[in-house]
Amino acid sequence: MKILGFKIPIVYMPNEELEDRYAQVFGEDEAGMVLGNYDGVRKVINLNEDVYPKKHEGGPDEEETRLHETIEAINSITGIEMSHPQIATLSAVLHQVFVDNGYKPLKWK
Ligand SMILES: [Zn+2]
Repeated sequence: MKILGFKIPIVYMPNEELEDRYAQVFGEDEAGMVLGNYDGVRKVINLNEDVYPKKHEGGPDEEETRLHETIEAINSITGIEMSHPQIATLSAVLHQVFVDNGYKPLKWK
């Protein structure tokens, strides 16, 4: 996906690998079930392929996670410094607004 001038690939990875990477950044205590994350060093969005096994078919939960990680990427790239609760609220509500108003052009690459 393209965000500003960056090309941010979406890479699916197994739960264990995703949790290991998450723990490296946020500490072991924070690692639980990670649905996805934005890796600001590699500039990659990772999604959990054990949770979303049908890659790129994008069910409702997966779309919301992709939207969440997209906002994480925007937050990181632009440095607007939203807190995680702000990001989580924004992604959940934006997703609801898109779904309930028939906004469908979310064709993620
Ligand atoms: Zn997050």
